[in-house]
Amino acid sequence: MDHLLTPAFRAFSAELGQDPLRVQGPGGNTSIKSGDVMWIKASGTELANAETAPIFVAVDRNAAKAEAGGVGDGSCKTTVLDPENTLRPSIETTFHAALDWPVVAHTHSIATLVHAISPQGRKAAAEKLHGLPAVFVPYAKPGLPLTREILKRITPETQVVVLENHGLICCGETVAETSAIMAEVETRLAMPETPRAPTSDGPARLGFERLAESWMAFDERVSALALAGSYYPDHVVFLGPALPKSDVDQDRPVLLIPQQGVYLRAGATPSQRAMIRCLSDCLGRLPADWTPQAIGQAAEAALLNWDAEKYRQALAERS
Ligand SMILES: [Zn+2]
Repeated sequence: MDHLLTPAFRAFSAELGQDPLRVQGPGGNTSIKSGDVMWIKASGTELANAETAPIFVAVDRNAAKAEAGGVGDGSCKTTVLDPENTLRPSIETTFHAALDWPVVAHTHSIATLVHAISPQGRKAAAEKLHGLPAVFVPYAKPGLPLTREILKRITPETQVVVLENHGLICCGETVAETSAIMAEVETRLAMPETPRAPTSDGPARLGFERLAESWMAFDERVSALALAGSYYPDHVVFLGPALPKSDVDQDRPVLLIPQQGVYLRAGATPSQRAMIRCLSDCLGRLPADWTPQAIGQAAEAALLNWDAEKYRQALAERS
């Protein structure tokens, strides 16, 4: 059954996972399917380890597709084929199952995110992707709500899905085709880093590490954006809503203190470190005249109360 997990598929998955401009921590996922069987990245595992660790789990593709259509709870837990396998399929399994392409890859691409969080960026992205079989899907909570929004918009020809305030999905007949179309999207959407405000040294904080991302604390616009809201789901899952500007809660993993720096709490996880870099990579490429829209507090709350996400967080913390 695991003959589907070819070296090419594993290598493609690992390459995505090892590029912080495509995938951060346990984010993103890939799948490969044939007939009734679909292998998908398991929840909480990292694509970066695709060639060295058992990160994939096989599911009954038709049963998972049925969950995309409303059968069951959408977690696809009961669609796992091997009863001995204790891994849970990704929370994004339903859209992988519903997309009628053998190879599906989903990333939290920085180039895509820079465009997908503002109306001006989305418009620019639509122009840059002209001629590709692409659709844009508005923000919805990862899992069934997002799958439903995707299914409303795709056609059998769609191979590129821009997930607003979330990321990118590319599909193909083969690993090579999926990899090529994703590379084409990355090339068309690539954004240079914008010039950064000069960063002076800031004070050290006991119990925290002052990060290279501290430049954000010296850029008024970027600070305001980072303190005001969250722009994609994994930020909320790993760092909580927006960023706090003080340690008043005493439990937030990252603080952004204007004119001082960005601080990572001692004991923070590699995933949390990856997520603050993600924000820096994203806001550090934002053109001055694009106005990002946060996902909003209702969406943040929905993400934080969600059991499947808690599970994913817990797994990531142990890795
Ligand atoms: Zn995602």
